[in-house]
Amino acid sequence: MSTREPPEPSGVDSPISDPVSFASLPLPSLLLAGIAGSPGYALGPTWVVDVERAGVVHRAISRQLIPDEIERFARAVEQTAADLREVVATSRVGRAEISILEAYILMVCDPTLKEKVQSRIRSERKCAEWSLDIEIRELSLALRGSENTYLAERSRDIEFVGQRILRVLTGKAAGISLPEGPTPYILVAHDLSPAETSGLTKGRVLAIVTEVGTRTSHTAILARALDIPAVVGVGEILSKINPGEFALVDGSRGVVALRPTEQAIATAKLRDERYQAVASGLWRRRSQPATTACGVAVQLNANIELPTEAPLALEKGAQGIGLYRTEFLYLDRPDLPSEDEQYQTYARVLETMAPLTVTLRTFDIGGDKLASAFALPSTLNPALGLRAVRLGLERPELFLTQLRAMVRASAHGRARILLPMITATQEFRRVRLLLDQAIREVDDAGQPRAVSIPLGMMVEVPSAAILAHVFAREAEFLSIGTNDLVQYTLAVDRGNRELAKLASFFDPAVLQLIAGVVHAGEKWSRGVAVCGTMASDPLAAILLLGMGLRELSMEASAIATVKETVSRVSIAEAVAAWERCAMLGDAQAVEAELAMLFAPRISDLLGRDFE
Ligand code: PEP
Ligand code: MG
Repeated sequence: MSTREPPEPSGVDSPISDPVSFASLPLPSLLLAGIAGSPGYALGPTWVVDVERAGVVHRAISRQLIPDEIERFARAVEQTAADLREVVATSRVGRAEISILEAYILMVCDPTLKEKVQSRIRSERKCAEWSLDIEIRELSLALRGSENTYLAERSRDIEFVGQRILRVLTGKAAGISLPEGPTPYILVAHDLSPAETSGLTKGRVLAIVTEVGTRTSHTAILARALDIPAVVGVGEILSKINPGEFALVDGSRGVVALRPTEQAIATAKLRDERYQAVASGLWRRRSQPATTACGVAVQLNANIELPTEAPLALEKGAQGIGLYRTEFLYLDRPDLPSEDEQYQTYARVLETMAPLTVTLRTFDIGGDKLASAFALPSTLNPALGLRAVRLGLERPELFLTQLRAMVRASAHGRARILLPMITATQEFRRVRLLLDQAIREVDDAGQPRAVSIPLGMMVEVPSAAILAHVFAREAEFLSIGTNDLVQYTLAVDRGNRELAKLASFFDPAVLQLIAGVVHAGEKWSRGVAVCGTMASDPLAAILLLGMGLRELSMEASAIATVKETVSRVSIAEAVAAWERCAMLGDAQAVEAELAMLFAPRISDLLGRDFE
């Protein structure tokens, strides 16, 4: 189970406190399985918000009224942007979430959308609401039909933006209105926009349940930031729920019980008590060093996407940044970040973390992360296409700009540069030459930099893992990206929910590749880390220790749990576990073996049951 990070979980917010009897409810209990979006438990009345979406007026307008209607639409756009700016200014959520809202403001103000709607009002004489609705539908449909999961996900964003403007046009209040009074509710919706979610408070909202979404969708990210339990992607629920009806939400396991039984409530209460106790214990120990039960130090770093996550990572006990996904500076914007903007952004992270190490990964654009300024052609198989370092080498002027910015930023702390998706030694060598050029240019310009900037590579493609002993001679450090390594080794799209069961990092093929990389690192005295999701799983972390890894990088919120796990296991035990697991033939057997060996000892830290 991943942990929440409340300063101290308070009894007031603990939702499992109401001994309500459900025995007399007429409808049977219904259990719905979704995705664990944000950990924690809640029991309470539901409030269905999806029915509140703004309706669309279909009104034809006369020729004389066209200028007024165009003006009315322009005002609504301005008002919507102003409202969203207000949410940004007053919101309690972090920078990562704010940037989602800022992207919405850009969408609202997008001149193309405005021109299209206004031209429809002019040519078809449809009212502003109607014209906007048509444009939004067309845009959203085009995006939804995209093969690209990132673009398909953006279709919901454009719908939210449309709803937001529509609400202003129709005079309906934006955001979610809960019933008057102090009673907190479990919010149930088809989906929630970041603007809607960020306005929620833990005191009024016990939990969030949405029909759509994944662990990385905006609702889940925001719910975690707000410390509100959430289950997303439960599928159809709105039609199965009567407003006000009680529900039990288990955000740690991703389960929702409508009209829960007495027994389900009792079990959830016990789990909630355990959860609260573990969360507060972990929080208290967050700044202690990570060492195994036998006293071996383990480096636990954070993965970040935005500079403002750096202080949060420190707060959560990170000993450095093991992966800074710099591509996020390029996403959700029409232009490219300049060298200076990049330099300042990276320098800020380095200064925040100094003297700890920051691993700056060069842009991993392509695949499912699209930056419109790169104008990449759409391909049938983007994960195998022009992506990451391949793209950098294809557009060397853009790559050099980023490398120069990184070299300059190195003057502000302890930087190292990490290359994503290296598949062949030639690629690594070509980047090395580009980095040398960037260093020369920075020196020629008389700009300061660190004397040494280690250059390492991600091992996230089977070819790189198989040839790790060759790469380890050239790269100064290696970082294993298990998310992509699993995807490419097992031929399973990492974004495909239906295939998620096949994509296990416990798969023996993946484990053998990792072991080979560790061995290559030892042979050439190169540091090897794991920075994929595998590092944040307690059982997998033990296995990685047993394979010889001493550096793990993960979502900052997982650090406390992994630190605690590590402290309960000795290296000798972890090595013995890896020796047993190395003999096994499938992922399930490996996981079961680890669970048999360690689950009883770390059951409070696991987000899943092994019964
Ligand atoms: C990975 O592939 O495991 C990784 C850490 O990189 P990303 O998730 O950014 O692709
Ligand atoms: Mg990757």
